[in-house]
Amino acid sequence: VNQDAGPPQRWRLAVDPDVCISSGVCTGCAPDAFELVGRASRPLRSDVQPQDAILDAALACPVEAISVVEMGTGAVLAPEP
Ligand code: SF4
Repeated sequence: VNQDAGPPQRWRLAVDPDVCISSGVCTGCAPDAFELVGRASRPLRSDVQPQDAILDAALACPVEAISVVEMGTGAVLAPEP
């Protein structure tokens, strides 16, 4: 057990429905994390375990509608600053 690891990280995931253009990139990259509802994607959960597919999706979003924030630190992982 790594005593320095602390509690497991969580990410806060959000999609801005006013910015999303329904490209389907995120639902294709991370179907377990996003769903298209009507004309916008939305996260299935806002509190998620870190996973590469979610960050890949957020960084691949053509309009940077997806935000990923590390809970605890508040570090913004996406969109890229
Ligand atoms: S990748 Fe971006 S624009 Fe495309 S559906 Fe997801 S949030 Fe919307």
